[in-house]
Amino acid sequence: MEDTKSRFKRICVFCGSSSGKKPTYQEAAVELGKELVERKIDLVYGGGSVGLMGLVSQAVHDGGRHVLGVIPKTLTPREITGDPVGEVKTVSDMHQRKAEMARQADAFIALPGGYGTLEELLEVITWAQLGIHRKPVSCWSFLFGTEAS
Ligand code: AMP
Repeated sequence: MEDTKSRFKRICVFCGSSSGKKPTYQEAAVELGKELVERKIDLVYGGGSVGLMGLVSQAVHDGGRHVLGVIPKTLTPREITGDPVGEVKTVSDMHQRKAEMARQADAFIALPGGYGTLEELLEVITWAQLGIHRKPVSCWSFLFGTEAS
């Protein structure tokens, strides 16, 4: 049997807190979740069940892998984040959240998203450029365009 175990134990996924207009965005989120499961990789993400974040986390959780959501205190109300699956870690603010997600992950993948996704992606790319980490960063797709989102 083919060994699909990855060298990565846990990957951080940045993606939209909304679903975007194109069905391909949602399909990509579910597909990535299933791919992580297939490769026996756990997930760390921004927490919550909204948008693409909800789809990818649900797919990983359904596949039996560990899901860690990192949510700042200011975003914890259910109306904002929805009910998360898996383990939830509450942190004090947005800066601590990014640091915690980066600390917990062996690599980063950005799916389609909006400004939040763009900001998270650019920050980890910048940290790599500065030598703060040596973890791979992959941008699977494109950010929501103003018309497409
Ligand atoms: P955006 O691409 O603007 O929708 O922002 C999504 C990214 O920012 C995610 O990767 C999250 O880490 C964070 N984020 C933004 N909004 C939320 C929310 N309502 N609940 C949880 N995380 C969020």
